[in-house]
Amino acid sequence: MESYPKIASVLLDLGIDYPLDYGVLESQLDQAYPGMRVHVPVRGHLRSGMILDVKERPSTPHILPIAELLPESSLPADLFELALWMEKYYLTPARKILKTFLPTQVRVNNYNPQTQAFVTRAVSQDQLRLACQELRHSSAIQAKVLDCLLLNDKGLFLADLLELTGVSRSPVQTLAEKKLLHIQNVCIDRSPLIGEEYFKTKPKSLNEEQLQAVNAFCASLSQQEFATYLLHGVTGSGKTEVYLQTIERALSLGRSTIMLVPEISLTEQTIQRFRGRFENHIAILHHRLSQGERHDQWHRIRRGEAKIVIGARSALFSPVQNLGLIIVDEEHDAAYKQSEERPTYHARDMAVVRGKLTQSVVILGSATPSIESYHNAQRGKYRLFTLTSRATTSQLPAVTIVDMRKEYERNHGYTSFSQLLIDKMKQRLAQGEQTIIFLNRRGYHTSMQCLGCGYIFKCPHCDLAMTFHLGQQKLCCHLCGHMLCPPPKLCPSCKVSEDLKFRGVGTEQIQKALHALLPDVRTLRIDGDTTRHKGSHDKLLREFRTGKADILIGTQMIAKGLHFPSVTLVAVLNADSSLNIPDFRASEQTFQLITQVAGRAGRGELAGEVILQTQLPDNAIIQVAAEQDYLKFYSQELETRRLFNFPPFIHLAKCTFSGLDAVLTEQVCLEFRKKLITKLSRSAHVHPVGPSGYARVKDLYRFQFLIRAPSMREVGAAISQLSVPKQVKLHVDLDALSTFF
Ligand code: ADP
Ligand code: ZN
Ligand code: ZN
Repeated sequence: MESYPKIASVLLDLGIDYPLDYGVLESQLDQAYPGMRVHVPVRGHLRSGMILDVKERPSTPHILPIAELLPESSLPADLFELALWMEKYYLTPARKILKTFLPTQVRVNNYNPQTQAFVTRAVSQDQLRLACQELRHSSAIQAKVLDCLLLNDKGLFLADLLELTGVSRSPVQTLAEKKLLHIQNVCIDRSPLIGEEYFKTKPKSLNEEQLQAVNAFCASLSQQEFATYLLHGVTGSGKTEVYLQTIERALSLGRSTIMLVPEISLTEQTIQRFRGRFENHIAILHHRLSQGERHDQWHRIRRGEAKIVIGARSALFSPVQNLGLIIVDEEHDAAYKQSEERPTYHARDMAVVRGKLTQSVVILGSATPSIESYHNAQRGKYRLFTLTSRATTSQLPAVTIVDMRKEYERNHGYTSFSQLLIDKMKQRLAQGEQTIIFLNRRGYHTSMQCLGCGYIFKCPHCDLAMTFHLGQQKLCCHLCGHMLCPPPKLCPSCKVSEDLKFRGVGTEQIQKALHALLPDVRTLRIDGDTTRHKGSHDKLLREFRTGKADILIGTQMIAKGLHFPSVTLVAVLNADSSLNIPDFRASEQTFQLITQVAGRAGRGELAGEVILQTQLPDNAIIQVAAEQDYLKFYSQELETRRLFNFPPFIHLAKCTFSGLDAVLTEQVCLEFRKKLITKLSRSAHVHPVGPSGYARVKDLYRFQFLIRAPSMREVGAAISQLSVPKQVKLHVDLDALSTFF
């Protein structure tokens, strides 16, 4: 038996779920640490994996040596530690966590950095569409590929095409042989920053409040101390300038920064602001990157070439060198929570953990901090800094609540626009100023109903009414994408009535109604439908900023972080719509949304105005949102949470069971709950079982229950002792944000 100076336990990327022992050779000793990527022999083949642990003795007698160390793609020590932490807290196998940390492209590492296959159409768009329709019957997979190309008319990288469609290379090859597509190798620099315009900017001289914040952050940076700050600044108060100057200090101290922003705020405008200050020190990570770009960015960061990483939630796991500063902008944003997939981590919370592991400064910034974070600041866990006024001379906008019930009365029926809003819009048009109309929904009408029998067109696979889209003449399910195109003329339920009516209002209909009302108006619409193509979101925003439209209509996508100096009027059409969701966070989300949208008004020289249209003008949340009084909202809401024992006073987990058989799924859920209760201490409270907010998604029936407990560890440990039959899938969302859906 051969003997080695040390033994490494290695977790393979694929296959075996537990680590295997391998010998560390003398020459490998100084690099064989946890987090190191390796090639190891498995039954005569080399496989890739990661060292989880280094120890003295093997657990089995005959072991082989590690074939090769792969230091370029290994995890820095602090990230590895974070992975172990998350493995325990979020009850997720190490392999799943490591997958979140290491992009596939880095793990597989087969990307040729110089050239990449690029796919374009070889025939006209019409011919391609025709071919696609024919193929839909004979080869759904090939049709899927063509669908994707029809959506991306300029062509796309093969790697992206495969990822978007989920198909293998061979159908693409077949389509190329049929001379419908071209595949070429193109030689490119994949850095996504090349070619973008930006103007170099200088640091602004800070106002007193900004200065105090920056000084405190920089003092912690210089002392290399771990500290978490909450930066509460009203919209437009210059938080971004505070971030920029703090990053600058980190840079001059030789330390790196990770800056998280919600995915939809990662617009060209945001990127330009950072690039204008830091030029090529930046790496930008977002979900639209091609696989090659992702691979390159990861290595740039790992090598320390990019000292500032800006990205959506998973950018927190970037392999930066010498981390010193982590900023979470719009820290209240629900997009920081991964809910559907394991690990169900919250990037804001993990930012604090990583900050602690690396002795970094963590800044959480928001105009509407989450109740949790503000509570943490109040009890001294975070240090609070407040920016109370807008940085430019502009004032916070004046808010008016309009009672829509009176408008319906006066109008003898439904109307989308109150008289006040119409008058104000006309004023803006006359003065050449811009308006934003916000609606918390997309599509033309939200549903279609048969007036004969009352049937509402529901998705056949989901528990959701289908949405009608006028532009594409289709009924569509927003949960699974199921489509009826064109929509049926005859009711499928009573099979007699042709009297089908649309109910509810969407962005598309608002746009149409506006043009009927104001014939010369120029509008733009930003929602999930108009921003499907790469770059289209940025393009629409740019058009609006440069004055190519008078009114911008949009959903959540326009609520955050945008800066349009000529916008002087913002209208929220259905301010109360998010209050109807039976979730204890509904008030908080409504308050945040209204405040954020209102914050888009009056950001330039001109004063801004906000109109909140609602059917609940006396509702306490609508009132306090109109006052834009965060502290009042916070103290009311905190009391409610205390009274009903909800977070931040307790932790909350959601167990969702899904299966094809409704009866079985519910039964499994009930039994699981019963067994779980016996394993939990008295301090945990388990709610009753009920159907999920979406009771059926993609043919799977869903049942759920909530658990409230002082510690998630206890809940996690109890759950991991239990199992479910394989016909039913259990998903556990720890520290769940959404309790209803
Ligand atoms: P926030 O991120 O808090 O919404 P921004 O950082 O976008 O606010 O700032 C709003 C506007 O105020 C921007 O145009 C910004 O350039 C400007 N600004 C910020 N700080 C200052 C300052 N100290 N002096 C002058 N203008 C400032
Ligand atoms: Zn009917
Ligand atoms: Zn569906």
